[in-house]
Amino acid sequence: MAESKNMQKKLAELELLSRQLDPEPGVRKLLFEQVGAYSEAFLEQLPAAKTFIRDQGNDGFTASPIGEQGEEVSSLLAFYRREVDTTGILPASGGQLGYIPGGGLYPSALGDFLAGISNRYSGVAFAGPGAARMEHSLVQWMCRLAGWPESAAGDLTSGGTTATLSALVTARDACGIDHIEIPRACVYLTEQAHHCIGKAMHVAGLKDIQKRVIPMDSRFRMDVAALEQAIREDRARDLNPWLVIASAGTTDTGAVDPLPGIAEVAKNNALWLHVDAAYGGFFRLCPEGQERLAGMEAADSIVMDPHKGLGLPYGTGAVLIREGHLLARSNAYYADYMQDAKPPEHSVGQAFSPADYSLELTRPFRGPRMWFPLKFFGLRPFRAALSEKIWLARYFYEELGKLEEFELGPYPDLSIVTFRFRPDGGDIDALNRRLLQAVHDDGKVFITSTLIGGTFTLRLAVLNFRTHRQTIDYLLKLLQAKAEELAG
Ligand SMILES: *Cc1c(COP(=O)(O)O)cnc(C)c1O
Repeated sequence: MAESKNMQKKLAELELLSRQLDPEPGVRKLLFEQVGAYSEAFLEQLPAAKTFIRDQGNDGFTASPIGEQGEEVSSLLAFYRREVDTTGILPASGGQLGYIPGGGLYPSALGDFLAGISNRYSGVAFAGPGAARMEHSLVQWMCRLAGWPESAAGDLTSGGTTATLSALVTARDACGIDHIEIPRACVYLTEQAHHCIGKAMHVAGLKDIQKRVIPMDSRFRMDVAALEQAIREDRARDLNPWLVIASAGTTDTGAVDPLPGIAEVAKNNALWLHVDAAYGGFFRLCPEGQERLAGMEAADSIVMDPHKGLGLPYGTGAVLIREGHLLARSNAYYADYMQDAKPPEHSVGQAFSPADYSLELTRPFRGPRMWFPLKFFGLRPFRAALSEKIWLARYFYEELGKLEEFELGPYPDLSIVTFRFRPDGGDIDALNRRLLQAVHDDGKVFITSTLIGGTFTLRLAVLNFRTHRQTIDYLLKLLQAKAEELAG
């Protein structure tokens, strides 16, 4: 009896404390309002904010460890502002013109909020039928964008790298590249292929396959004749030409490989064609991009990054497989403790369960962050924004071309331009480094550099939905002014 009294007392004490994890409406309202006020202040200052501020190396987190007592939301938001939301690159800004710009669509953030509050489980149709249907519809929408039929399938991943891993594992399994075949299997790609492909190969146990780096033309596009020849030579050596990796927009220069020509070679030689469209894929939404990306539909697998071209906050990539059942073949597993959710006789099929097509079982419900903005805005503004990015890159190219002291890389296939400051004398590489430094010191806009054929080269990447002509004009003026200072 006393025992049971003690237990009841204990439970009551614990409940009192643990209920703090489920705040009352008044506390929720306060949290919501304060976070809302923070986001409003953030968005209001965004147009005037610097896109890049060098960090001073102060780590506020060490001085503020996680403790036993909770803290005031206002002081936490002030801390977040100071310690997280001040230095480094500001990806939400239209001035972010470096690497591959991201986004941060407002309804997408709210989609995450909805997904988080309801915490709907999207992995298995039995558990979250609507969540699974939402993700299915989004994946199918991307498959249609790629020009594929309904037999295609895909998965919303955390990003392009995990999507690439999933695509390569699917291709490996579909083509029977096992431990015997690995030393004979050949992959064809260019030097411009994204480094995540090497990483994915490593994780997929494929690092010992034969890697053929195919030469490129002067615009950094794969040379189709050289591809064909490399395959022929490998066949003659009794190797197994297996996989060709084409880029639909390289990260470095934005080059689109000649997809129709590569597709034909892949088809004639029974190779798996993977198209890395992480950066470029969503340009299929606008006529200029559609034209450039013709031939993508011939791929066997495609990677697209909604957190790039579609403007979502970081955290959403997509793998798409034309023969959708092959994706399930590599990912559908069964366990007895899942018996209520996934009857073994149809663990794949009937209702679509994303977990059967995914590396992940328990996974973030990624659907709303993509579905909400697409449905809220409709496609028209997305198409316009993507067209605008292509035209902004072209505009930058033409305007910079008018300045004598700059030399330009190839005319942009999509929305990336490479260029170099090229005054009459001096150490050109060093001057370009200093020019980049000067742009970073200014901080209003942010661009990056790369090495092209070993040469230090500046680059502009336009993709953020907040980038408009004003930003490009600012950069042009800044480059001109800083170049004059450096040359003078
Ligand atoms: C960004 C990018 C990737 C990698 O995607 P993450 O989302 O960064 O993991 C792969 N390929 C290309 C062409 C990219 O631009």
